[in-house]
Amino acid sequence: MAECRIVDGEHRNDQNDRGARVALPTSPSVPDLLDFSVPSEPSGSQPRVGRLAPSPTGRMHIGNVYAALAAWLSVRAPRPSDPNDGHRPGLLRLRIEDVDTPRVRKDADRWIMDDLHWLGLDWDGDPVYQSERNDLYDHALHDLREAGLLYPCFCSRAEIRAASAPQEGDGYVIYPGTCARLDPAERARRLAEGRRHSWRVHLPAVEQRFDDVVFGEQRFDLARQIGDTVLRRSDGLYAYQLAVVVDDLLMGVNDVVRGRDLLRSTALQLWIRDRLAENGWQPVDGVDNSGDPHAENVRDSAHVPAAASVPAPIRFAHLPLVDDPSGKRLAKRNRALDLGVLREEGVTPESVIGYCAWLLRLRETPQPVSAHDLLADFSWNPLRADHEDRVCDPTVLFG
Ligand SMILES: [Zn+2]
Repeated sequence: MAECRIVDGEHRNDQNDRGARVALPTSPSVPDLLDFSVPSEPSGSQPRVGRLAPSPTGRMHIGNVYAALAAWLSVRAPRPSDPNDGHRPGLLRLRIEDVDTPRVRKDADRWIMDDLHWLGLDWDGDPVYQSERNDLYDHALHDLREAGLLYPCFCSRAEIRAASAPQEGDGYVIYPGTCARLDPAERARRLAEGRRHSWRVHLPAVEQRFDDVVFGEQRFDLARQIGDTVLRRSDGLYAYQLAVVVDDLLMGVNDVVRGRDLLRSTALQLWIRDRLAENGWQPVDGVDNSGDPHAENVRDSAHVPAAASVPAPIRFAHLPLVDDPSGKRLAKRNRALDLGVLREEGVTPESVIGYCAWLLRLRETPQPVSAHDLLADFSWNPLRADHEDRVCDPTVLFG
């Protein structure tokens, strides 16, 4: 499945993808939102809306905590550049990214929430479950299709692998565009036959740029470096790449913290986001939203003139990845560093947070500290200065 990694979302590293749920500012100030050149420290008048976006595929591990802590601090820490900060607290939403239902483990959402409480990492409002938002994803897919941006893809994984070359040594495979070139009559015939297919978005040969707080300016040639991407899988499930764009947009998220393995996805997601915004998509979720009661709102908003519906720019902070001592990416299948094991061993929340604060270079040593005690002097600068990937050595945690 490597060839479809970005497409299916399976490439995504659980540990690092902190999605964010966003709540809505009660009165978005449209003029501020029109400036898409996002400074590292956006205009102070906009309440920051961040997100924790765990995949409920297992217990949280150190890499998940590291990313969650960074997302929490990014929203909760004071903003020195904003004199009104005390009056404009940010919002941190919790979004359970359970759209890939075959990978979901029963009760993992509750373990994650319990672990976040134990760590002292809170959030605002009710958790939002992607599995309850299919209506929204249906609607987004419909709009993108109507805009002529999607086409059905009948390729098997093996066919794609055979026709592609991996890029840049990271195993990422660019879709070769086979089905984009299908004769329209042939395409219609296959659809009429009910042939199994996914829906891909056709990406133009344009450069998508954005600024990252940690890694600086990023530029991706969409066609050459990303390629046409699956938004709805052939099994009918929505791809991470569509769900996350819809959710971030509707929830008003403007502060995204996640692993650097998603830098490429960020370029793709920004492009899709702009296409939805052109169709009138804009933030609608309130912090009290717990389900998907907004489908009607979205339908209404789809007819709002584009100029009035430009969503807030997002500030991105991509984090170095965390490997285990053997050099492999931490994953939920490695139980050694998950919170179930650590808690059973008597490791304290302050030890876990202190270790993660050290991984984030917020402290010079992995000494125990509470999340709250990290707020006062939180800054991205130390990480910006040292953004090599990390190696997590569990012996430090166990003392
Ligand atoms: Zn195809």
